[in-house]
Amino acid sequence: MTIRSINPATGEELETFEAHDEAEIDSALARAERAIRRLGEYGLDGRAERLIRAADILESEAEAFGRMMTAEMGKPLAQAKAEAEKCAWACRHYAETGADMLADEPIEAGDKGRAFVRRLPLGPIFAIMPWNFPFWQVFRFAAPNLMAGNPGVLKHASNVPRCALAIEQVLHRAGFEAGCFQSLLIGSDLAGDVIADDRIRGVTLTGSEKAGAAVARQAGAAIKPTVLELGGSDAFIVMPSADLDEAVETGVAARIQNNGQSCIAAKRFIVHEDVYTEFRDRFVAALEAKIVGDPMHADTDIGPLVDETAAETLMGQVDDTVKAGGKAVLAPEKGRLSFVTPGVLEQIPPASPGYREELFGPVALMFKAADLDAAIRLANDHAYGLGSSLWSSDEAEIEAAASRLEAGSTYVNQMVASDPRLPFGGVKKSGYGRELAREGLFAFTNAKTIAIR
Ligand code: NDP
Repeated sequence: MTIRSINPATGEELETFEAHDEAEIDSALARAERAIRRLGEYGLDGRAERLIRAADILESEAEAFGRMMTAEMGKPLAQAKAEAEKCAWACRHYAETGADMLADEPIEAGDKGRAFVRRLPLGPIFAIMPWNFPFWQVFRFAAPNLMAGNPGVLKHASNVPRCALAIEQVLHRAGFEAGCFQSLLIGSDLAGDVIADDRIRGVTLTGSEKAGAAVARQAGAAIKPTVLELGGSDAFIVMPSADLDEAVETGVAARIQNNGQSCIAAKRFIVHEDVYTEFRDRFVAALEAKIVGDPMHADTDIGPLVDETAAETLMGQVDDTVKAGGKAVLAPEKGRLSFVTPGVLEQIPPASPGYREELFGPVALMFKAADLDAAIRLANDHAYGLGSSLWSSDEAEIEAAASRLEAGSTYVNQMVASDPRLPFGGVKKSGYGRELAREGLFAFTNAKTIAIR
């Protein structure tokens, strides 16, 4: 099998790679198993030093890594470079804070003697990752897990093989020796065999609901813990007390980041009726001013979608929403290859894709709400529950949204963003488990009880 790297902005084939065969997969898993001991020998200090070296490499070569990401999946270059720098931040963060978080936790247990919980690594973790943040999604898993002592085995999305190999090299150059972190170039058809292999002790996946359900089934059959980070259709609620200038500017940025292909992009704009028209008109004007074009060009705001199938899926969702009675305030248009201009839909009927599905591209969905209760009801009337954002300066509204929005996070007067310091994940069909922060560091550890009398 051949794995191809294709530039979505030009259609050019950049490189081809021969997929790993079963013997190569077997050797990689054997190396991963041996690397548990190696990571143990490095100790917390040795793992932290290596993560800091990885951060140095990511920072000093951010431009080159950025170009690599942009070439393979089409995000604007400035965002790609910033992504490499964010990975450096994550490596430094776990290098600096990991040891304290992983320290033994004493528990007062009377007659049991000296009792404590020690966080021990589970072993090799299989990470199935998507193309949309080709470096960040991987480092978000790798930095805390390497710090916790777990070797990583990556199956990256088939359209970003160059990024997959570059990440393996960064960690290798940083001093993580053979087996600590490896990229398998394999299709999803072989993922089940890797999941079932006894040498793999846990599985993490970021991607679609369909892939998540398949992987969770396979991991369940093998009794292995999973973390799933799936789709989202995040609500962005705007109340009359919000600073509208900031809400419009941030809302547009939150919708078009990564060419609109982010699980935590703001997708459903739920706006109080008193400010609806003003917010919508200003949002549309700001969106129309955005430049769609070559993602390598510094002026470009929105590059191509990942491939033509993605562009056709998005256009189909828009057409079906309009056919069902939705209104295109700004109609998106498909250009050459997978380029799509931004759009805004409103009056979205509950039975349409705009209401029920995730739109993975630069098209915003606008809803009008009479009050905060109605806004929260609308926000929660969705299969997904990843992030959410509230724009309000009213303390009671902020409290209500914080407790009642069914989502893995609520960011107030700011956009949802993943941050190495904060837990990240969702509820409902957006998945389960948490990445990042203490929760992410502990996700694949054995919380071992030790009682000494
Ligand atoms: P997929 O879920 O298909 O791909 C994500 C990863 O899962 C890839 O590595 C893929 O491998 C792998 N994969 C796919 N199916 C299986 C399977 N049955 N068993 C094991 N691994 C599997 O996402 P797409 O790229 O196709 O995007 C489709 C939709 O997914 C988007 O429209 C969006 O809704 C959602 N998505 C969400 C993301 C997020 O950040 N939460 C990121 C990307 C997509 P391979 O590439 O080899 O198929």
